[in-house]
Amino acid sequence: MAGGEFALIEQLRSRLGKAGKGVRLGIGDDAAWLDPAGRQLVATMDTLVADRHFFPDVRPYDLAWKALAVNLSDLAAMGAEARWCLLSLALPPREAGYGAWMEDFMAGWRALAERHDITLVGGDTVATDGPLTLSVTALGLVDQSVMRRDAARPGDMVWVTGSLGDAAAALDLALVERGREGQGFPCSAAQREALEARRLRPMPRLEFGEAAAACGVCCAMDCSDGFLADLSHILEASGVHAQIALDALPLSRELMDLAGEDPERWQRWPLTGGDDYELILCAPPALAAPLRQAAAAQSLRLTAVGRILPTALDMPAAVTMTWRDRVMPLPTTWGHVHAL
Ligand code: ADP
Ligand code: MG
Repeated sequence: MAGGEFALIEQLRSRLGKAGKGVRLGIGDDAAWLDPAGRQLVATMDTLVADRHFFPDVRPYDLAWKALAVNLSDLAAMGAEARWCLLSLALPPREAGYGAWMEDFMAGWRALAERHDITLVGGDTVATDGPLTLSVTALGLVDQSVMRRDAARPGDMVWVTGSLGDAAAALDLALVERGREGQGFPCSAAQREALEARRLRPMPRLEFGEAAAACGVCCAMDCSDGFLADLSHILEASGVHAQIALDALPLSRELMDLAGEDPERWQRWPLTGGDDYELILCAPPALAAPLRQAAAAQSLRLTAVGRILPTALDMPAAVTMTWRDRVMPLPTTWGHVHAL
């Protein structure tokens, strides 16, 4: 893309790459020069591919928000303070060019980056004959230790931030609308809009991740592929089991109205649907009070949904699930594969 590439990089530099904390040298040289000021680095990367992770007709604003949000969510799960990002763009030819597209993309990126004081410090821009592909690398800082997946212990309470399932319900509607395989259901325009906002613009729980780590929480993970699937990663890594109350999962008001008392809908959306980008935390009961306090200070909902149990040979699965205090079978599909 030659000439166009330089103009595009200059746009990114001037709009998103202005001086930031710890940036000695940002966009424009062969590499960025960053100063973690004696702290430790946490690094993550996520790639989004058109038609696999997003509909090709997505608004560039929302695409940028999501590409950044999914990475920040990974930093949040580690308990890191997010600082810097790098962005790789593989752009297929586009009849209308990328001028207006880029304007909208940068507005979406900036809206989320400014909330958390994140600076874009580099990246790569290439033309491709393949699908539009974005890779974001996010870098964050920690002082002591991170929250990890393999640190759940028997007796821990299992917590979830925010609410689950909105994005999955919105995806169902979006799929049906596009004549693809999904499960339709009647809902009002206002409900649809609320669900869709959660699907398109997830809120990474960065402040809470940091606060939880500061409270002494050792085990966390972000919930992106479905609560049950992601919880099972924690259980496997930690070598423990869990008991989860399906009816305790936190639902938004909109989803509560739609899911009602139907356990199948609870299983489909909050339990196994994806794209929530909430945090799952496991922590001893002694941390319940400080965690609740930290959440309240951020006006963030925090819900206890179950307990970590020791592994028992007579337990057929890593998760025992209840609905209104009765044990119920686990669904056959645990999570969501990113295929639109
Ligand atoms: P090089 O050929 O040395 O790798 P590039 O021409 O790819 O350099 O990039 C020039 C500068 O622009 C570098 O600082 C790079 O990090 C930055 N850059 C390129 N693409 C992007 C992008 N999509 N987002 C942010 N920075 C970018
Ligand atoms: Mg390059």
